[in-house]
Amino acid sequence: MSVNLQTPIDYLKGVGPNRAELLRKELGIHTYQDLINLFPNRYLDRTTYYKINQLQQNSAEVQVIGQIIKFEEVAQKRGKRLVATFQDDTGTMELVWFRGHKWIRENLKRNTPYVVFGKTNWFNGKFSMPHPDMELLKDHEKSLQSAMQPIYPSTEKLTNKGISNRVLIKIIQQLFTETKGQFTETLSPELLENLHLVSKSQALFNVHFPQNQELLTKAQYRLKFEELFYIQLQLILKNLIHKSKIKGLPFHHVGDYFNTFFNTHLPFELTQAQKRVLKEIRTDLGSQAQMNRLLQGDVGSGKTIVAFMSMLMALDNGFQACLMAPTEILSVQHYNGLIEWCNKLNISIKILTGSSNTSERKEIHENLENGQLQILIGTHALLEDTVKFKNLGLAIIDEQHRFGVAQRSKLWHKGPNQNPEKALAQNAVPPHILIMTATPIPRTLAMSVYGDLDISLIDELPPGRQAIKTVHRYDKNRLKVFRFIRDEIEKGRQIYVVYPLIQESEKMDYKDLMDGYASIERDFPKPKYQISIVHGKMKAADKDYEMQRFVKGETQIMVATTVIEVGVNVPNASVMVIESAERFGLSQLHQLRGRVGRGAEQSYCILMTSHKLSNDSKTRLETMVRTNDGFEIAEVDLKLRGPGDIMGTQQSGVLNLKIADLIKDNDILKSARYYAKQILNNDPSLSSPSNKAILNTYRQMAKYRNIWNYIS
Ligand code: ADP
Ligand code: MG
Repeated sequence: MSVNLQTPIDYLKGVGPNRAELLRKELGIHTYQDLINLFPNRYLDRTTYYKINQLQQNSAEVQVIGQIIKFEEVAQKRGKRLVATFQDDTGTMELVWFRGHKWIRENLKRNTPYVVFGKTNWFNGKFSMPHPDMELLKDHEKSLQSAMQPIYPSTEKLTNKGISNRVLIKIIQQLFTETKGQFTETLSPELLENLHLVSKSQALFNVHFPQNQELLTKAQYRLKFEELFYIQLQLILKNLIHKSKIKGLPFHHVGDYFNTFFNTHLPFELTQAQKRVLKEIRTDLGSQAQMNRLLQGDVGSGKTIVAFMSMLMALDNGFQACLMAPTEILSVQHYNGLIEWCNKLNISIKILTGSSNTSERKEIHENLENGQLQILIGTHALLEDTVKFKNLGLAIIDEQHRFGVAQRSKLWHKGPNQNPEKALAQNAVPPHILIMTATPIPRTLAMSVYGDLDISLIDELPPGRQAIKTVHRYDKNRLKVFRFIRDEIEKGRQIYVVYPLIQESEKMDYKDLMDGYASIERDFPKPKYQISIVHGKMKAADKDYEMQRFVKGETQIMVATTVIEVGVNVPNASVMVIESAERFGLSQLHQLRGRVGRGAEQSYCILMTSHKLSNDSKTRLETMVRTNDGFEIAEVDLKLRGPGDIMGTQQSGVLNLKIADLIKDNDILKSARYYAKQILNNDPSLSSPSNKAILNTYRQMAKYRNIWNYIS
């Protein structure tokens, strides 16, 4: 039978204990399987030949056919270099060596056709190629393997210890010899046929030693598909298990609260997107399974009212609801917004935050437990063990990126059965969960990372919104910017000025903030101008006071750190000035910009920076100036930062992709997801004979990752 791919790499001929140790340490290669999955980073195209008169400066590696006509030693500062004049029918170039002269002079033949390969320099009016790869033309024509030469990932240590790219090629060739190039097929015959995929064995051979670009492309496609397919399969299976195991609280009917609000109190017509999302949520809540839904909608798209109307569905069925926000300011704002609607409907609502006092807490705790309190808004304070609901039916989390997954699951256990262990043991029914975020996760990632969440999208802004105009200005233009601000204030508008604040440079940042505040005070003197300031070091009550002054329009300028980043809603504010904008991440910039453009007036975002800008900073600023589309921005962000920094990706395994690329291979990802779904729909346990290869592969991977217990 075939060679066991779990064989330790030490057993491969030509590897031995020392090399094995290096391969383990430097590349994480332990087994034959790991080695076969060491895919080349790139390939040198050795199918094209250049004439000497076609050479270009700054080109990549090239290969040229010609003959050495003479050797010459040239003295240089230290030692000598050996120069060979190399000629073809269009001209001459130089081959240059700085060491090994003796061997070269003895072994390289003059007036004999060679293929030389390497990078060329333009030197002294001539092209020269230092330390070229050389092969006699007649040998070159015989050797098949070198059509496209694989270049493997490597490390300095590996190369220094003699495991060069050439050695890696040799070792991998040896692996193909020992296995006879036969590898167990890992996809089903149907998939291979429907998608015209090449076999596993063909794919592996051609990804390492492609004979031409077409075969390489086919091989890569198949391997990328396979990689993404198994990730999707795993996500969907988890989700299925989740759904079948986790019962949901049945919200049987749409009742008075919802209908009264909808028919009499709706403050504006809902957008099509809002209506669609409400329907999606309604369907979930009416089903037998727990809702676990992510609601994505750009800043200002109107997620709050959707949240509120979802809560009404819970209340209509006799359940309580809660809404958790990441900051006190945001919680207060939600509370202030919702209390008006609640009053009209005679619904009891309270807010619980870190600054709620003991007697408030006591009352809230009591009324939650006896069921008199219907809606609770608040911060993390909601997660405290002392907070117990009588019958929580729906938990909503706003701006999810501020909360961790652990917190999400903590809410789970606040359902009708309080004690988490008991709840799990008794199969208690958890509340429905709705997560809202304005930081759109790129579609690509959402699909691969949040396979376990359903996703709703508000992809439409309420009517009448004007696109925010965004500009980039340098610090030296500050006077002009101030003049512009003055004009806007003259028109009755309000202004945000935001400073960065990061923990590592907290001291300096506070100084910048205070200096900035002082200079604004100088240019906008009292009593004509009133300025609010809000930052993290202030007491909650002071923050709230300053915030409220701005909300009420008593101050025209709000100077702040990023505490105002999320959710704050002051429709009269029309200018967002972001200081040291180069220090903010893209999603943060977009969030901040979302604080303006909430009213009917034309709004502006001014990105202030110094002249020193990195390339990434430039890209971020250009992106902000170019577009208001949160999804486009998220995609750029993903490209700049890689998926590693984007929330939730750490746990998902998408980071360890060996060959596929989440962005470039988006189409393959979609297809992989489609087929994974289809296969599991028809054969949820993968027990049909035609899915044998898939089941076996999945089992093997699961054994490796220890996740098989999810299905068995
Ligand atoms: P976000 O999605 O950022 O949380 P909000 O829910 O705060 O957005 O809504 C932003 C603003 O748009 C609020 O002032 C809200 O009242 C208003 N709004 C929401 N939906 C609509 C709509 N369909 N028509 C008009 N205004 C709306
Ligand atoms: Mg919001």
